[in-house]
Amino acid sequence: MTVLADEERSVVAAVPKGLYVDGAWREGGGGTLSVEDPATAAPLCDVADATTEDALAALDAADRAFAAWRATAPRERADALRHAYELTMARADELALVMTLEMGKPLPESRSEVVYAANFLRWYSEEAVRVDGRFAVNENGRGRVLTLQQPVGPCVFVTPWNFPLAMGARKLAPALAAGCTCVVKPARQTPLSMLALTEILEQAGVPAGVVNVVTTSRSGPVTQALLSDARARKLSFTGSTEVGKLLIAQAAQQVLRVSMELGGNAPLLVFEDADLDLAVDGAVLAKTRNGGEACTSANRMYVHERVADAFAARLAERLAAMRVGRGTEPGVEVGPLIDAAQRDKVAELVADARDRGARIVTGGAALDGAGWFYAPTVLADVPGEARVLHEEIFGPVAPIVTFADDDEAIAGANDTEYGLVAYVFTQDVNRAFDAIERLDVGMVGFNQGMVSNAGAPFGGVKQSGYGREGGPEGMQEYLETKYVAMNLGGEAVRP
Ligand code: NAP
Repeated sequence: MTVLADEERSVVAAVPKGLYVDGAWREGGGGTLSVEDPATAAPLCDVADATTEDALAALDAADRAFAAWRATAPRERADALRHAYELTMARADELALVMTLEMGKPLPESRSEVVYAANFLRWYSEEAVRVDGRFAVNENGRGRVLTLQQPVGPCVFVTPWNFPLAMGARKLAPALAAGCTCVVKPARQTPLSMLALTEILEQAGVPAGVVNVVTTSRSGPVTQALLSDARARKLSFTGSTEVGKLLIAQAAQQVLRVSMELGGNAPLLVFEDADLDLAVDGAVLAKTRNGGEACTSANRMYVHERVADAFAARLAERLAAMRVGRGTEPGVEVGPLIDAAQRDKVAELVADARDRGARIVTGGAALDGAGWFYAPTVLADVPGEARVLHEEIFGPVAPIVTFADDDEAIAGANDTEYGLVAYVFTQDVNRAFDAIERLDVGMVGFNQGMVSNAGAPFGGVKQSGYGREGGPEGMQEYLETKYVAMNLGGEAVRP
């Protein structure tokens, strides 16, 4: 077992471990739950374990705080978010270390996630003062149409372990800017990043009750209790499609507004005229960012048959050279997978592809050590029926499929129930636009292997979910439109 270094021990010790309800840290009714370092499988610390009663107390606080928060001047809400942005940036190194310890990703990637998360706080601090409505003359020329945009109400946020800070910030920032309050339920495996952000929001002046956080080992009953309570008005979920479907059904009982950021099966298309340097670079980023544990990870690489061998060889060379290890170690580029089950699933998908005839160009095995490491892997000649092309891999495995023409590439890319993101590499802008318009996805990376950006609408179609996070579209998820039919002039209105 790796013993924590002093700095690691002190950053973990500094994170509050309680539930945050109505502006106070408190114990959980369910005792505590243990958080582990996936690079060593050793325990890091314990945090409070909430019961459904704790969660309902949090919702009660969010409900009571709503009236005052929605009435708070937009500039004041903006200032609190801006302050939170500055505090987050000032503590970026410490937050990155906490994230690496609980989730495993290499420190430089954790630091980028801290900046990405902070960018949402800054972007929506600028948006809080820009909520407006519409005023129009009725088509009959007499009445007037007035619209107001008002906050939806208390929200329930459920977030995953793979981006433990950014997925929370991406929901919290627009919600707070719009005047909503919330209860956040982070994933049990990575609660520390969210708890650290909560402390920052508290220090930034976000009033008691506006943000409440419950960590729990009972995600099913706790979330169901929240969604069954009429005081909740909105659910925003980021996680697997499987759990998303369950929560959509639960949210339907109260006709809650719902945003769903679910799983992906991203295709990466390399046409024969692509700049191969750019394509390989983009593929490395889209595949190995977050160790492949990202909804946006390139899950299938469709490469034109004329360039497939060169692309596979160059990608394999880059992936084979990547240093795998504990994310805290200098130079490490790929950390451990989150747990043993995830590592075993990746191994199973690779074995299935190999048994069906795929060729392992590099990698193809779990690595020794106490944590959950898997070697960066390139698979070539992957047959269409291989599971790896149909299931979310969530690991550093790049399956390559060849195509002969554009129609075949796009048909292959669209042959999935998911529709989050696709990557297109070509130097022909006409071909690119044809592909962009025909791909059934919510986002496209054109000659780039990453799309995340606080000012842009992130989200998917088909079973990757609905709703958008980021940009002006992300703010709309937390606003209701109220229409006022105005009778000016004193005459009775008749049909
Ligand atoms: P997950 O198993 O669906 O968990 C996500 C969240 O839901 C966690 O907080 C989890 O809590 C909770 N949860 C699990 N079962 C639940 C239930 N029965 N009722 C209520 N809540 C429940 O997903 P994950 O493995 O953490 O995350 C990976 C998935 O997230 C992938 O599919 C990935 O594509 C997706 N993702 C999507 C986006 C996007 O923006 N589209 C971004 C990131 C990740 P516990 O873990 O504590 O049980």
